Amino acid sequence: MTIHALPIPTPFAVGRVNCYLVEDDPLTLVDTGPNSGTSLTALEAALGEHGRRVEELERIVITHQHFDHFGLLAILADRSGAEVCALDRLASWLESFRDSTEADDAFAEAIMKRHGIPEDMVMVLRALSRQYRAWGANATATALLADGGTLGFAGRSWTIHHRPGHSPTDTVFHDERSGELIAGDHLIKHISSNPLLTRPLDGSDERPKALVAYIASMKATQAMDVSVVLPGHGEAFGEHRELIDERLRMHDRRARKLLGLVADRPRTAYELAQELWGNVAVTQAYLTLSEVLGHMDLLLDDGRAAEVEEDGVVRFTAG
Ligand SMILES: [Zn+2]
Repeated sequence: MTIHALPIPTPFAVGRVNCYLVEDDPLTLVDTGPNSGTSLTALEAALGEHGRRVEELERIVITHQHFDHFGLLAILADRSGAEVCALDRLASWLESFRDSTEADDAFAEAIMKRHGIPEDMVMVLRALSRQYRAWGANATATALLADGGTLGFAGRSWTIHHRPGHSPTDTVFHDERSGELIAGDHLIKHISSNPLLTRPLDGSDERPKALVAYIASMKATQAMDVSVVLPGHGEAFGEHRELIDERLRMHDRRARKLLGLVADRPRTAYELAQELWGNVAVTQAYLTLSEVLGHMDLLLDDGRAAEVEEDGVVRFTAG
């Protein structure tokens, strides 16, 4: 009745993604790896090390909407006939994968332009994002999960918690008896999860406050009794409360640094990203823009900063 980590290679900078094989009834896989032959071969080999085959899987659970976590879902579900469990709003996103990602990209494009990323760069990023879609694929969830619900097994029970921030659909699974927490990318030890700005799935047009949401999610997780975190990337770890404290302090430091920069003179989020990260703000434009906007939201929320819009471009000033 154990949980095995299956680290599957991905073509992304993050490196391997952890899928988890839960030896229980039903036999369950958490996350799948990206939609690629290399990842599928590696997953088959990793299952084989535990004497299992794809065809034996009875349940597949998805933690969130990023390609490295669900790309192989349709293939695995098709081959195994497994039940597919996903948060309700993640299920509809997966079902219309093509339209979902197209709408996500249109949303990201508008944000990038509004926050000072040059037009030609936006075009390049949009084209890149289209290519990236090959690592995902549409898939159908057969069991919809709800925040606060439970997922039952013969030998354990998981409480389901929606923990948006890194993405709008992050879902963590908590075994209250053992203290195990399947965390996806909600909490990772060796890297701080990016509060990626993503189109909200509740139909609202407003720019979502990803970092504000993420901080609320981290505080909710901090209040839980967890013995071990099983993350989407890297090693399993304990002491989640200390790690979350550390992350909260880091976000606070970064917000104060940004406040110093906008107090100096009004700047766009793209200019702020360049101040903080130099060329990385160009090569990782959307990621760093998401970070800056996340921190600006913290400052806007408590009145320390303000935004001024001119010709469709936003600049931040001290409040
Ligand atoms: Zn992710």
